[in-house]
Amino acid sequence: MLCEETRQSLSQYVDDCVSLPARVAIDDHLDRCPVCRDEVIELRALRRRLSLLTPPTPPVDLAATISNALAIEAAARRQQSAPSLGRRITRFIEPWVMPYSAGSFASVLMFFLMFTALRPHFQALRDAAAQQRGSVIMVQTLDGGYDLYQPITPEGFAASRGWVTVESPTLNPGGALAALTTSYARPHARADGDTDDMIVVTNVFSNGAASLVDVVQPPRDKRMLDEFESALRQDAAFVPASLDRRPDTMRVVFAVQKVDVDDRNF
Ligand SMILES: [Zn+2]
Repeated sequence: MLCEETRQSLSQYVDDCVSLPARVAIDDHLDRCPVCRDEVIELRALRRRLSLLTPPTPPVDLAATISNALAIEAAARRQQSAPSLGRRITRFIEPWVMPYSAGSFASVLMFFLMFTALRPHFQALRDAAAQQRGSVIMVQTLDGGYDLYQPITPEGFAASRGWVTVESPTLNPGGALAALTTSYARPHARADGDTDDMIVVTNVFSNGAASLVDVVQPPRDKRMLDEFESALRQDAAFVPASLDRRPDTMRVVFAVQKVDVDDRNF
């Protein structure tokens, strides 16, 4: 047995609390080792000194004092009325409510943070939608072809009419004939008896120019026919044939109606 092992058991050896084989081994070591023998002598001296100490005596009324304190506490517990149902429920759900409320608050906070972060994107989407609405309005304007406040190009106007242009030439929006037909639909100072109509036949050529061929139904007021012919002479009444994808020369029947339009419609 080594010194270290022996010393770990020396306290129990002095107290006579080791097994017989351990005692034999320790005795054998102590016979050969003066250092451990000294240790045993010291431990025995310490034990002797400790046994000479007077044990402390507890206060005589210690037991009574503790008993009284316990009795008072028990009485107080009995006196306390049972907690209300609400209080018991509150106590029961408290451990759950706490994490849930913290979680809910965190969710709300996250929502606001995300919303704030995404706001520029929402704005961009709104702008894009507004732009799209704007472009739709522009196309509708071209379709109708009546908005004189917007510049209309012959290409745009022809394109907006679709397949119809193959059989019906597109009016040159900047031409004299277009201006004349538009003026027929404008409010006139003289409201009574100003409606008139005529049906004429024209030849339309590839460059958009047109010439009067025949008058199927003359207007009551001959000035209307004169204005029509003069407009045809002024410039190309129609867009070039290539824009319409129409035949180079075609014959077109024109039904022109002059109507009074109430101011309120504009
Ligand atoms: Zn030793």
